[in-house]
Amino acid sequence: MPDQDVDDAAEAGLPVEGPVEPTLDILRHSSAHLMAAAVVELFPGAQYDVGPAIADGFFYNFRLPGGATFSEQDLSRIEKRMKQKAAQRIPFVREVMPRSAAREMFQAMGQDFKVDIIDRIPADVEQVGVYRTGEFVDLCRGPHVPDSSWLKAVKLQRVAGVYWRGDERNEQLQRVYGTAWFSDEELQQYLDRIAEAERRDHRRLGRELDLFSFPDEIGSGLAVFHPRGGLMRRIMEDYSRQRHEAAGYEFVNSPHITKSDLFETSGHLDWFAESMFPPMELDGGTRYYLKPMNCPFHILIFRSRQRSYRELPLRLFEFGSVYRYEKSGVVHGLTRVRGMTQDDAHIFCTREQLASELHSLLVFVLGLLRDFGLSDFYLELSTKPEDKAVGTDDEWDEATEALRQAAQAMELELVMDEGGGAFYGPKISVQAHDAIGRTWQMSTIQVDFQEPQRFGLEYVGAGGERQRPIMIHRALFGSIERFFGVLVEHYAGDFPLWLAPVQCEIVPVQDNVPEVMDFVHEVAAQLRAAGLRAEVSDHPGVRMSKRVRDAELRHVPYVVVIGKQDVEAATGRIRVRDTRLPAEEAISEMAVAELVEKLRAEAALRGPEAVPRRAS
Ligand SMILES: [Zn+2]
Ligand SMILES: [Zn+2]
Repeated sequence: MPDQDVDDAAEAGLPVEGPVEPTLDILRHSSAHLMAAAVVELFPGAQYDVGPAIADGFFYNFRLPGGATFSEQDLSRIEKRMKQKAAQRIPFVREVMPRSAAREMFQAMGQDFKVDIIDRIPADVEQVGVYRTGEFVDLCRGPHVPDSSWLKAVKLQRVAGVYWRGDERNEQLQRVYGTAWFSDEELQQYLDRIAEAERRDHRRLGRELDLFSFPDEIGSGLAVFHPRGGLMRRIMEDYSRQRHEAAGYEFVNSPHITKSDLFETSGHLDWFAESMFPPMELDGGTRYYLKPMNCPFHILIFRSRQRSYRELPLRLFEFGSVYRYEKSGVVHGLTRVRGMTQDDAHIFCTREQLASELHSLLVFVLGLLRDFGLSDFYLELSTKPEDKAVGTDDEWDEATEALRQAAQAMELELVMDEGGGAFYGPKISVQAHDAIGRTWQMSTIQVDFQEPQRFGLEYVGAGGERQRPIMIHRALFGSIERFFGVLVEHYAGDFPLWLAPVQCEIVPVQDNVPEVMDFVHEVAAQLRAAGLRAEVSDHPGVRMSKRVRDAELRHVPYVVVIGKQDVEAATGRIRVRDTRLPAEEAISEMAVAELVEKLRAEAALRGPEAVPRRAS
C-alpha cells in the first residue's frame, strides 16, 4: 500500500461526538488504539505515532527501543494481548485537556511523536482531546467504540517499514497493519476473500503460466509478453478486430511519437502534461513527445480532407500503444502500467446521430465484454462539472440525455456521478464485477465537444453548410494489458478453451517406443489440422503422472495420455482428461475424431457458455 499522508495534526482537536451505532471506520480506528495499548505493554519504551483506519482495516506506526523491528511471532503476541483486552471490556474514556497539559503529559511519558503532533496543531487550538483505554492514553479527537468488547474480530496482518511522515529523508518506523470487523464471520469472509484474491493474483499467475514479465532492465510498468501470453493477446486482438470490422469501424494507424505542436493544439500539454513522459529534442531543438493518447492523431486523419455528412458516422479504430508516466508507487502488474496498447476508437458524428450511435455503441461494448466472459455489469454516468466546461448547456443536456437513454435501454443498474464528467464532455463507464465480486472499471464512452472545436473540425452538411461534428472517444478493454490482467484474475488462470494458449497436451507413456510416439504425433497433427492448439509433452523419462500433474498446474484444459496398451489395442480410442473437472468425472474415452470435434465445438463458444466448469 502506498504511504498515504495522514494528517495527524488535524486529528488532534476537541473530541467529536460519535454516532450511537459505531461504523466500521470507528471500530477499526479503535482497534488501532487497542493495538498500541498492547504494544506499549509488551514492548516497554515503544513510542506510537499515528494509527488511522484505512480501507478494510487500520495501522499504527511505532518506534521500538534500540531500533528493534517486529517479527511474525511478535504480531501474534500483540494480537493475543489485544484479545485479552477485548475480553476485559475496557471503556474508551474521552477527556478534554488544555493543549499545554497534554503536551506535558506526553512528554513525561516519553511519547515524542505526540509532543510533535501537538506542536504542529494550529496555534489557535487551545484544548485537545485524549482517549484512555485502561492505562493507555492517546491524543485523539475520536470518536471511538464505547469499550474494548467491540474489538473481538480483529486480525493483525503484516508489518512494514515506513518513513516517518512518508518522507524518505526521515527515520523508518514499524507499521503494523490489521483488519477489524463487527463479527468473526465477517472477519473470516474477509480473510477468505483476500486468500482468494491472492490465489488469482495475475502477477503470480503470469509467472507460473509463463505469460508475461516485467524485466528490471526495461523499467517499471513496462511488460513483455512471452509466447503463451503473446498468443492469448493475439487471440484477444484478432477477435476484437473481427468484431470491430463487422460493426463498421475503419482501421487506422498512427506513430508513437509526435512533435509537441499536436499536443499543444489538443490541449494535452495543458491538462495532461503530468501524465506524459518528458520530451526528446530532435532536429535542432524540436520537441517530440511519446503519445499518451491516440485521439489527436485520429482527428488529423478526419481533417486530412474535406468531409461530407454522407461519411458520418466515421468510426476510426486503432490498437494504439500509448505511454503514460505513472508514479512508481502506483504501478501495479498489468493493471497499472506505463506503456499500454489501447483498443481505441474515435467516432465522428452529427448531433442528430449522437443518440443512436451511443445506443449501438453500448450494445457493442457490452456484447464484446460478455463474449470475454464478463457478464455482471453496472453503468456509471458522469455529468457536467460545476466549475468549468466547454460546450453549451444545450449540448451538454442533449449529450447527457442521450447517454442516459442509451444506458437505460441496457436495463442495467445506472449509478449517477453528478458533476464527475471531464470539462470536455459527459461519459458513461462500464463497471464489471469479476468472478469474486470485485469491481473493475472497463470501458468508457466519452462525448467530446472540445477537440472538434480546438482542431476546427468540419463537415459539409446536406444543404452545403459547414457543420462541426461531435466526437466520441471509446475504449472497450481500456488497454489490452489491463484487460489481460483482469481476465487472468477473473478466470484464475482457467481460461475458456478459445483463449487457452495450449488447449490440449498429449503425454506419451513410453517416449522410447516409436509406435507410441507415432500415434502421439498423429493425434497432435489431427488436432492442429482442425485449428486447435495441441502440444506434445516433451519430458522423456519423467513419470507420466508427474507430467499430467504438470500440465494441470499450467491450467491446460485437456490432457491425453497415450501408451503402448493403446497402440496395441488398436481400437483408435484414447483416454482424455478434462483437468477442470473433479477427478472422478475427469477421464473419458473417445475416438480421436470425437476429441477433435469436441474441442472444436468448445473452442467456438464465447461468453458464459465457454466458461470452464471447475468444481472447486
Ligand atoms: Zn483515536
Ligand atoms: Zn480519445
